[in-house]
Amino acid sequence: MPTTTRVFNFSAGPAVLPVPVLEQAQRDLVALPGVGMSVMEISHRSKVFEDLLARAIANIRELAGVPANYRILFMQGGASLQFSMVPMNLLGPGSTADYVDTGTWATKAIEEARRLGTVNVTGSTKADKYNRIPAQSELRLTADASYVHITTNNTIEGTEWKTLPDVADVPLVADASSNMLSGPIDVNRFGLIYGGAQKNLGPSGVTLVVIREDLLARSGAGLPTMLNYKVQAENNSLYNTPNTFGIYILGLVTEWLKSLGGLTAIARLNQRKASLLYSEIDRTGFYRGTAQKESRSLMNITFRLPSEELEKTFDRQASADGFDGLKGHRAVGGLRASIYNAFPEEGVAGLVDFMREFERTHG
Ligand code: PMP
Repeated sequence: MPTTTRVFNFSAGPAVLPVPVLEQAQRDLVALPGVGMSVMEISHRSKVFEDLLARAIANIRELAGVPANYRILFMQGGASLQFSMVPMNLLGPGSTADYVDTGTWATKAIEEARRLGTVNVTGSTKADKYNRIPAQSELRLTADASYVHITTNNTIEGTEWKTLPDVADVPLVADASSNMLSGPIDVNRFGLIYGGAQKNLGPSGVTLVVIREDLLARSGAGLPTMLNYKVQAENNSLYNTPNTFGIYILGLVTEWLKSLGGLTAIARLNQRKASLLYSEIDRTGFYRGTAQKESRSLMNITFRLPSEELEKTFDRQASADGFDGLKGHRAVGGLRASIYNAFPEEGVAGLVDFMREFERTHG
């Protein structure tokens, strides 16, 4: 018998979505009210879709306080395509881009940028197994760099930037895939922010890009059309057919965030959820958090048990008890609880109970 009971889904992404969003999507799936067709069946140039798109953009602008001189774009190809588009558009010939290496995804961004231009790895915590974010004093920034790239939350290693680096007048570019809209953000500090939607914003297949308007002038006319931010902005993300269903869901998720009280409210909740879990991890020493305390992510909580054997048992028993997706990324092993915006607090409390019982029986 297939089950329709929802488990607690700790997946790192695609990840849990708010139940009210899924319910509304289910209600509207066969026919959008007043439209008589599903959102997947209408033209991306129709008034109905234009309104959905405008609403999603307006919600993001309102939630994150995106200033008027920034454009909000929805693209495809995931954050991984942004690893290429950022240098293609922003890294001019003869210039250098600074990258801070804080983990697996930062490394991938660096590898892609290197295919296209000159990269200076301006700081790295690789020697510490990426268990922390570097301090400002460790960064050796290039004075006239095209941009400085950071990964605001390191999904695999479980770290996040608590304060942004000071990069003077150089545009700060951020891969915010795994903590986008998880708390208030000062967009003015950035030149460009990007992220795949599939953790905090919606389904996979939509990539959010927030770009300061003056940077659009850097996009050369020789770029492939689809990979040109200026073209995407001039066409309001409708140069070609976008992921209409994904944008619709993202719109619903942003409505849900607004109904909760916006980013200050969700930040409070995220802080509370993460604290619950970190307190349990720190309680006895049976569990060991892998990130240094001052760099701990509120989204991806990575921890180890005394042996790999126990980690396997933990994951297996947790799954059987309805706590799904706790296995750490294959690159680092261990365990990882991803608790994005939509992850329910009672699931965190439930996991804490499970952890106590597991320690009692295996510790
Ligand atoms: N950057 C970060 C921080 C990520 O967590 C991920 C995906 N887990 C990516 C980039 C790659 O994203 P995508 O699969 O959307 O290309």
